[in-house]
Amino acid sequence: MALVGTMSDQQKNVYTAEAEVPAVHKFNSIKEIQIFLDAMTSTDWWERKFNHIVRIEAYKSASRTCSHAHAEPENNCGVINISERGMNALTVLHEVAHCLVPKNTGHESDWARTFMNLVYHRFGSDKYMDLYQAFLKHNVDIG
Ligand SMILES: [Zn+2]
Repeated sequence: MALVGTMSDQQKNVYTAEAEVPAVHKFNSIKEIQIFLDAMTSTDWWERKFNHIVRIEAYKSASRTCSHAHAEPENNCGVINISERGMNALTVLHEVAHCLVPKNTGHESDWARTFMNLVYHRFGSDKYMDLYQAFLKHNVDIG
């Protein structure tokens, strides 16, 4: 989720595409999300790919529907705020990807590829293909 107000075509296409992707994994609590994140950031794969971010912290979003994220590069950390509606792995990884790309990337292709990469590594090729095909169908620019 990026800034409210003017939503780019790319952002609209991303949201439309994600709504069509079958559920990946549902979380029951922010604690479950934090455990998932800690496991992910402890892998060798993470260390190789994203060693500028050593930890992602999960918090509940103040909004029921909107999740958001920001990086704190000075702390080598990312922070994600997950809404009630966003208590699933697709939303969590969407927000994690925002923490990993340069600020102001928004939902552009670098972000989209990072997101797809996370889905592939944590959930495998079938879930990756679900997301990839939804992105293609809705003209999401993946570079
Ligand atoms: Zn977003």
